Amino acid sequence: MSGLKDILAAQIRANGPMPVADFMGLCLGHPEHGYYMKKVPFGREGDFTTAPEISQVFGELIGLHLAELWMRAGSPAVVQLVELGPGRGTLMADLLRATARVPGFHDALHITFVEMSPVLRAEQKSRVPNAAWADRLADVPEGAPLLLVANEFFDALPARQLVKTAHGWQERHVDWQGDRFVPMVPEDAPRLDMLVPAELRGAPQGSIFEILGGAEEATLINRRLRADGGAALIIDYGHDRHGLGDTLQAMHAHEYADPFETPGDADLTVHVDFAQVTARAGEALRVLGPVGQGRFLRALGLDIRTAMLAKANPPRAEHLVSASRRLADADQMGTLFKALSLSNPDWPAPAGFDT
Ligand code: SAH
Repeated sequence: MSGLKDILAAQIRANGPMPVADFMGLCLGHPEHGYYMKKVPFGREGDFTTAPEISQVFGELIGLHLAELWMRAGSPAVVQLVELGPGRGTLMADLLRATARVPGFHDALHITFVEMSPVLRAEQKSRVPNAAWADRLADVPEGAPLLLVANEFFDALPARQLVKTAHGWQERHVDWQGDRFVPMVPEDAPRLDMLVPAELRGAPQGSIFEILGGAEEATLINRRLRADGGAALIIDYGHDRHGLGDTLQAMHAHEYADPFETPGDADLTVHVDFAQVTARAGEALRVLGPVGQGRFLRALGLDIRTAMLAKANPPRAEHLVSASRRLADADQMGTLFKALSLSNPDWPAPAGFDT
């Protein structure tokens, strides 16, 4: 038995079933046994891989996208470059390498990583030693334009699941039954119909609606962009409209696993409902997308950059080309993954969204 399994089981025995969101939050973020707190989850040896780990071109294009926006915004002398959930720091390292020759850009950057995991902070420090770290976006200094990047961050935040039952919409919980965790809805769980979008409220019994985590981050992104200027680029996998369904999934050693079986040892994610992100963060901002990751990266010059790199480095050419395909092709990460841009309307429009 893992330590976390015992801890969660004891907590449920003492207090009754816990909401799925609390279960997910503890599985990922328990200070000692949480999934992200213990190890580096990415890469071949890990449980899953992400776009920056697949190809350097991903971070490079995002870097050029941000540097070009910064120039069109008049090259402000100071910008807060913030990455939420930076993983191993690969995206930022690639971004910085690609923009090293943009006059004045690096001098303007104050880089902050928002990261909860000490293990991953150490990885990030090895790649980007001059960054600052914060536990929460709220701790990042205000007063300068914000350039924010979040790749596969919102999918890792604890989501609430509401189930349509005979009594209305009620929160899905996790119970400990005998020797295992079982999702269920306590009979007396309060009715939460008002949290479900009106057009979905009449769904048949058994339907599930997920409420994305990250409300605080979304609100802060909105406030900061409005007050200080700048833009946020949010990339994740999910859907652009509200939908129904249980998307909670576990990945272990590159295979799907049962989300309730090995708490703390598998990655847990949900699909991101971009409509919820936009509803929380988009008010009074310019909202572009979400567009498919493939369309976004190709608009930023994915194919040209891949060809250039391949030409300069023939032994890696094949790898570079197939990695770019993996990021952008429709049957791979090109459409399920999406890019959303939120920006201050007084700033120029960020590139890559066909405007
Ligand atoms: N962006 C990276 C990693 C994605 S995995 C990549 O694309 O490779 C999710 C990241 O978010 C990890 O770095 C994880 O430790 C971090 N994270 C998850 N929940 C967090 C939270 N509540 N606060 C801060 N960081 C969090």
